Amino acid sequence: SQRIQRRIQSSDHWFSLEFFPPRTVNGAVNLISRFERMNEGGPLFCDITWHPAGDPGNTHKPTSSTCMAGTMLNYCGVETMLHVTCCGQSPEQIKENLKKAKELGIRNLLALRGDPPDGNETWTYQKGGLNYATDLVKLIREEYGDHFTICVAGYPTGHPECSSYADDLRHLKAKVDAGADFIITQLFFKADTFLKFVKDCRNIGIKCPIIPGILPIQAYQSLRHIVKLSRLEVPQEILDAITPIKDNDEAIRNFGVDQAVDMAKELFMSEEVKGLHFYTLNREVATIEILKRIGMWCEEPAKPLPWKQTANHTRSKEDV
Ligand code: FAD
Repeated sequence: SQRIQRRIQSSDHWFSLEFFPPRTVNGAVNLISRFERMNEGGPLFCDITWHPAGDPGNTHKPTSSTCMAGTMLNYCGVETMLHVTCCGQSPEQIKENLKKAKELGIRNLLALRGDPPDGNETWTYQKGGLNYATDLVKLIREEYGDHFTICVAGYPTGHPECSSYADDLRHLKAKVDAGADFIITQLFFKADTFLKFVKDCRNIGIKCPIIPGILPIQAYQSLRHIVKLSRLEVPQEILDAITPIKDNDEAIRNFGVDQAVDMAKELFMSEEVKGLHFYTLNREVATIEILKRIGMWCEEPAKPLPWKQTANHTRSKEDV
């Protein structure tokens, strides 16, 4: 198999799935079965988010992002991307995390600044530290050359702290120029929002693939929580549709599936879009339903078990 940055460009229609690390060992066991089930649908890769409070200096905890990513890759045989952040960590801690990721066989990183673990704290500049995702991308390239494929985050309506949308685009270009291979975006609610963003990126010379991040709306409260954390605005027509059914989880999920299916179809009309990245919120029903409805869920038999064929052995020579 090829490195993912090449497969992203050469594959026709593909998808990837994001999960977050569980809080408990029981949660980890459930999540591992979910990786296995969802891997049967044929994702190009799956990724594990970095938990600001959980991981730094704690890469050996079984439920940590790093350990979950190692399990996903080496036990479940899934092509894996690990999110890594630099906010609130010393350069030594960050280097230690990267070393551990390499030891586990991880080849794909989503390099982020991150936010302070306590949602109420505001981010502050750290003298002598790594302050922006660009610094982290540079560090990874300096220390590891091309060993890792590097992804970075993009914000179709601008990052909430940015001084302006135009400044944020320039900062995104700096991240790519520092060595990022592709971009995954923050969630958005309308295909047009993403398509305008891509056009603006192209206009300032960002050439790498830009992958839309899709959040299937699955429950009223969780949507409110996510938009509050990400400081996003939900369009009025979506609020009007879901507010009357807010206590009916099934109805909200059906609405979320329809909305994501419509958006995916519209996105695929653009030459720019070949793949979709799903924020699964560690659930499977809605995402699988969407993928089936757009004809992307692959129903073929499961791949060989990983203890018969490890993820590392499936790499071709050129990828080592
Ligand atoms: P950066 O790219 O560093 O940008 C942060 C802000 O600084 C922006 O406003 C930017 O315009 C500005 N900026 C950048 N460079 C400069 C500069 N040189 N001078 C001045 N200003 C500058 N968070 C987690 O904790 N764990 C996760 O796993 C996680 N996964 C994510 C996945 C995706 C796809 C996305 C979109 C976000 C994710 N986040 C995650 C959230 C992310 O950490 C926050 O949005 C964070 O506030 C910014 O991270 P960043 O890497 O985009 O930051």
